[in-house]
Amino acid sequence: MTSTQARHTRRAVLQAAVDANARCHDVDLDLFFRGDGEQHTTWQARRTVALSFCAGCPARAACEELALRDGDGRADRDDMVRGGRTGPGLAAARAAQAERLALAADADRDTEGRQLDQLTVELRATATADTDRTVQGRRVPPAQVQAQQNLRVRTLAAQIRQIRTARRARNGWEVAA
Ligand code: SF4
Repeated sequence: MTSTQARHTRRAVLQAAVDANARCHDVDLDLFFRGDGEQHTTWQARRTVALSFCAGCPARAACEELALRDGDGRADRDDMVRGGRTGPGLAAARAAQAERLALAADADRDTEGRQLDQLTVELRATATADTDRTVQGRRVPPAQVQAQQNLRVRTLAAQIRQIRTARRARNGWEVAA
C-alpha cells in the first residue's frame, strides 16, 4: 500500500477503532457536554471526570484524531470533551496541526466520494440484476435469488445513507436535511 492509499483509508480505520473500543459506548453522553445554563463549577467537576474517563479509553487517540478532522471544539467555548480534550483544547490542537489536518480532510472526502460511487454502482447493478441463476448445474428458485438481492439492496442503501448522513452532519446539516 502506498502512503497515499494509506492516508485514504485512514478515516474508516479510525472510525472502526472507535466503534470497537470506545469506553463511552454504554455511558450517558451528557457526561461529555455542558448543559444549557449549567454552572461553571458543576461543569468543571464533570469535565474533570470526563477527561479522566477518556484518559483510560483504548480508542482515545483515534477518537481525538476524528474530533480534529470533524472540526469539533471551539477556542471560545468550554462546553465539551471528546478524545481526551476539552473544546478549547481541540481548537488549539487543530490550529497547531492545521496543515496536516487539511490534507487528511481532503483525503477523507476523496475516500467517501469513491465509496459512494462504488456503492451506488453496486446498488443499481443489484437492483436490476435478473433472477435467473444456476449453481452447480441446478437452477436456483427465482424467489430465493430475489430475496438475496433485496437484502443486498437494503444493506447497500443503508451504507449509502450512513455516509451521506455523516457528510451532512460534518457540514452542519441536520440528519434529516
Ligand atoms: S476518548 Fe473519550 S469520547 Fe472518545 S471514545 Fe473514548 S471515552 Fe469516548
